[in-house]
Amino acid sequence: MEAAPTAKATNPTIFVDRDGVINEDSDAFIKSLKEWHPIPGSVEALATLSRHDYQIIVITNQSGIARGLFSIDDLTAMHNQLHQQVQAQGGTITDIFYCPHGPDDHCTCRKPLPGLFTQAQKKYNLDLKNSWYIGDSYRDLEAGQAAGTHVALVRTGKGSATLSNHAEELKNIPVFDNLQTFAMWLLANNKDIKKC
Ligand SMILES: [Mg+2]
Ligand SMILES: [Zn+2]
Repeated sequence: MEAAPTAKATNPTIFVDRDGVINEDSDAFIKSLKEWHPIPGSVEALATLSRHDYQIIVITNQSGIARGLFSIDDLTAMHNQLHQQVQAQGGTITDIFYCPHGPDDHCTCRKPLPGLFTQAQKKYNLDLKNSWYIGDSYRDLEAGQAAGTHVALVRTGKGSATLSNHAEELKNIPVFDNLQTFAMWLLANNKDIKKC
């Protein structure tokens, strides 16, 4: 088996929220593989970034575990599917970090807290200041900023609602129609990335 491509030191790590950014979200939670539906273009976007030596790491709250709505096995099945879908397009997702806790568990990993980023940083020795977090909820952007990453909002999932509910706080945050348009923008602006 071929070794996974190593991320170039100059390329940022791209942290990505899951529900509403990679796959279609639901207020009833995404509980099983049969509810796993990638947003058009998202898998291709992840694979494209990966093929350009960006390291892709998913950061996601999955309180449905704590709520008893689905099991770790269900979650693993969805994440295996995501890994396979990106691999089928010639890319790699380095890792998926999730918070299985509920809002009342007082953990340190549930966004808007930055604990999952800290876990990823320790495991892969990442430069968080030279990385991005792409999310559709305001708490994603809060978590990314608390971790020290650049942040961007996508309009998919809850993104449009987030934009109208937090217009003032978001006025300096880049907004993209979807993950694909973010990826194209990032690749086009690669040389200037550190100025962002
Ligand atoms: Mg989301
Ligand atoms: Zn947690």
